Amino acid sequence: MKRRLSAILSIMLLISGVSAQQRNATPLLKYDENKSLSWEEAISFYSDLDKKYTEATLMEMGMTDAGRPLHLFIISSDGETDPAEIRRQGKTIVLINNGIHPGEPEGIDASARFAADLLANRDRMKKYLRNCSVAIIPVYNIGGALTRSRYWRINQNGPEEKGARRNTRFLDLNRDFVKQDSRDAKAFAEIFQFLDPDLFLDTHTTNGSDHQFTVTLIATQPEKMHPEMEKYFREKMLPELYSRMKEEHGNEMVPYVQYTERGDIKAITGFEEEAYYSTGYSALFNSFGFMTETLVYKPYHDRVIGTLQFITELVRFGSQNSKEILKLRSDANRHLLAAKEYVLDWEQDTTRWDEIQYHGYSYDQTTTPITGRKSGFYNHEKPYSETIRYYNYFRPAITVTVPDAYVVPFAWEEVIRRLEVNGVHMKQLQHDTTITVETYYIDGFEPARRATQGHYFNSKVNLRTVTQEVDFFRGDYLVPVNQKSKRYIITMLEPQSASGFFAWNFFDSFLEGQDWYSVWGFESHLKELLDHDPALREAFEKAKQSDTNVASDPVAQLQWLYQHTPASELEKRTRLYPVARLMDAGDMFNAGN
Ligand SMILES: [Zn+2]
Repeated sequence: MKRRLSAILSIMLLISGVSAQQRNATPLLKYDENKSLSWEEAISFYSDLDKKYTEATLMEMGMTDAGRPLHLFIISSDGETDPAEIRRQGKTIVLINNGIHPGEPEGIDASARFAADLLANRDRMKKYLRNCSVAIIPVYNIGGALTRSRYWRINQNGPEEKGARRNTRFLDLNRDFVKQDSRDAKAFAEIFQFLDPDLFLDTHTTNGSDHQFTVTLIATQPEKMHPEMEKYFREKMLPELYSRMKEEHGNEMVPYVQYTERGDIKAITGFEEEAYYSTGYSALFNSFGFMTETLVYKPYHDRVIGTLQFITELVRFGSQNSKEILKLRSDANRHLLAAKEYVLDWEQDTTRWDEIQYHGYSYDQTTTPITGRKSGFYNHEKPYSETIRYYNYFRPAITVTVPDAYVVPFAWEEVIRRLEVNGVHMKQLQHDTTITVETYYIDGFEPARRATQGHYFNSKVNLRTVTQEVDFFRGDYLVPVNQKSKRYIITMLEPQSASGFFAWNFFDSFLEGQDWYSVWGFESHLKELLDHDPALREAFEKAKQSDTNVASDPVAQLQWLYQHTPASELEKRTRLYPVARLMDAGDMFNAGN
């Protein structure tokens, strides 16, 4: 899985000694000339760093849909690459993911610059890597990066050439973190589970707004964290990152500008992240997650520098506050195990907000020169600054009680595989067995009319909960909930979850009836059926007296009879959600069942 690319060469270089000039050479980086690294150049760049420095290691981790392996680059002051050992030394791990949308390549160039500068300067390295290791995914969406064109993201201010948004299978990888249709997402999960990063950054470019800021920031939804982590995030980490960007770099940053109305921006709303987004995924594992979204209209060079400044501040923070961060996360992981309730869905709390300084442009009207369209635009001649509201508080919309375990039948292989990839420990039943479990009947749901990401997304799920005995079979999977991947388990297995397997159609086949009866065939068996079941005959006679529909309609009589035979039990199963909730596991996790 891992491959130390050139340990021997590194040693040789160490012995021969590398001059300062060689150390600083980064000939491939050309963001000053409005150019971005291609995938091949990026890998060659990191491969050179791996050869030059014992502190740096380039590894291959898993395969992508592009038929090329996903690379991971790790920098530690002592060259350590084993996350358990790094953590044992009291260091945090920062993971930076780049090129998920290769048309938004700032992070690809900024991370390369950051790594090269850090490695070339021992004083800098001491400062930043004292209590922190940095892991970089040079280019995540390799398929998109290989398809370069000057015409992708056509209204973006550079670079000259950039990759496509979608991956080789036309999937948007920033919707694929939990359902994992792509090999890319599985390889990413492998990296994420391997590192268990304390801080996670996913780098992007936004075209959703226009204002004076170069860097906008999506920070993970704070309420998703344990209250102590949330407090630390809101009161220390975020204010410090914002203030360092402004004071140290003179590059004031703003929360991602998701506005409430077009025109002059009066308020910004917080990003409600589903688990299928990068920061939503990292939140499932109690990592502090960020997405930088630099503004598409600013020059490419400025966007790279802005991203570089944020990376620098994030790593600095991770190193300086390693003790607190590690403690907060380990406490949060412990508290998570004890939690009996879990919030599946959140909604914006419109009664609470913070005030922030906003530097925008006035919204004017114009007639466009080529098409003659009348259009609104943000007038760069008319900058303004104003205090505006930032709505970034959420309250629970759907909460579920946490079972001791879920039971996933062996048949749902695609589900089992994804649970495994995301670090979930399971146990297979040793014998066929009947278990009293809480089950869901799906009474209603709405499949999307058009496909998104190759799925007809199910929403508006209406459930009925029934506790009953269900037959399970040898080989079915018992999934204990109280483990590190607890949030992933609940998020993915609860059918009301907008990120879950039910929403993404993994379970759709159970919704369809398979057996039924033919009117002619059933009629010929009726006499025999009723002769052998006097109770059924009696109930049938009663139904004919009490229900005028049954009395008057022969087809309704057949329907009534079918529904009152054991055969109909099979049909009732068609709406019985296949994953059961075991509320009290007793000694099932230990027993040799
Ligand atoms: Zn993006």
